[in-house]
Amino acid sequence: MTENGLNSLRNCKKCGRLFSSLDGGALCSRCNDDVDDSFTRVREYIYDNPSSSVKDVSEGTAVPTEAILKWIREGKIRLSDESSITFCERCGEPSNGNRFCNKCVHELSTGLKKGIEASSEKPKTKHIGMHIKEEKK
Ligand SMILES: [Zn+2]
Ligand SMILES: [Zn+2]
Repeated sequence: MTENGLNSLRNCKKCGRLFSSLDGGALCSRCNDDVDDSFTRVREYIYDNPSSSVKDVSEGTAVPTEAILKWIREGKIRLSDESSITFCERCGEPSNGNRFCNKCVHELSTGLKKGIEASSEKPKTKHIGMHIKEEKK
């Protein structure tokens, strides 16, 4: 009886089965195979449908979009340029081909507007003043 053998036993995070985790992984070998399987499925689906979006791939393979996005982010999967999957430069969420996701665009634009409103008040009155002067001439 070795202590090490007992220490590496744990419950699989996915199926709850007791297994011996030699590499410290949280999934049993069966569930690990499952992950590999969905990864292969996603890769093959993209290969067959190169211009599909993440949503299409998710629906076609029954793999959650989060998992697909994770693989894309990790560089394990590459979608074609046509589907142009991009991630927000600010928060890392999918941004539909834009530099920032909708949420950040909204946050940035409201922040920007505030800045413009605050700084545009003074030049405006100056301009009006100059304009009146010109008319008096
Ligand atoms: Zn398992
Ligand atoms: Zn964002």
